[in-house]
Amino acid sequence: MELIHTVAWMKQVASEARRNDRVLGLVPTMGALHEGHLSLVRRAQTQCFPVVVSIFVNPKQFGPSEDFKKYPRTLDVDLAALERIGVDYVFAPLPDEMYPPGFRTAVSVEGLGDRLEGRSRPGHFTGVTTVVLKLFEITQPCFAFFGRKDAQQLRIIRQMTRDLDLGAEIVVCPIVREPDGLALSSRNAYLAENDRRAATALYRSLDAVRREVGGGERNPTRLLAALKCVIDAEPGVLLDYAEIVDAETFDRAVSLRNNCYVLIAARVGTTRLIDNALIESEGNPFTVNM
Ligand code: AMP
Repeated sequence: MELIHTVAWMKQVASEARRNDRVLGLVPTMGALHEGHLSLVRRAQTQCFPVVVSIFVNPKQFGPSEDFKKYPRTLDVDLAALERIGVDYVFAPLPDEMYPPGFRTAVSVEGLGDRLEGRSRPGHFTGVTTVVLKLFEITQPCFAFFGRKDAQQLRIIRQMTRDLDLGAEIVVCPIVREPDGLALSSRNAYLAENDRRAATALYRSLDAVRREVGGGERNPTRLLAALKCVIDAEPGVLLDYAEIVDAETFDRAVSLRNNCYVLIAARVGTTRLIDNALIESEGNPFTVNM
């Protein structure tokens, strides 16, 4: 495994891979790696060589009152985990490499990013698309791997990739969860013991929706009522939003005719967590993927 810190060297490695007709796979992360990240890497390894994992805590996707400074940084442990599973390259640039003094450009996708996460975290998605575009330019991936955990981010990245002819194929990977359902997240490290227990309410609320759908309920308002019932019963959890949206447009769903996401964001103590379930109604029967 080779650790790369500079844009110039990463570009050189990537163009060498291209010249040799290699299928480069990119897994962008902010580090503090967990099994969710590693599942993306393993998936990448099934179809790509070389696999590049980027580790960059991107300042541009954090709001001024968010946790950029205290975001967990565990580079040595991350590198050991990636070495163990046989990653080829880790690209871990310093902020000045990605955003040298005088940097002025931002890339944003219109529409999809103004609601839900975008409304709660103004500027977040522009920060994400700007860094992902840079990572794509630097590594020129044939495939790039993202988790369904960040469903809205994924939708926006897909749009940017299509709109700007970036050429990378976006691969979606399922959400990896703890045995009690909590979606793995680097931010779970912030949770105190009580919060950790309360945090399962996000999963339980999505599971309530799954059960309702299984019982034949198709009305988004009633499905959300079932979700809120679970959240309201957990005093340690403060709901930011819960919505059922069309999986393509991210508009609020009035029916389950098209595939939909059930999206939830909530504060557990001082930690903000997100989760989602995908209701696939375009097949028969309906399935709810957690
Ligand atoms: P992050 O380091 O949080 O920016 O995440 C990097 C990538 O890992 C993103 O594509 C996330 O969607 C993905 N990811 C984060 N948590 C999980 C999880 N629990 N299961 C699957 N993928 C995840």
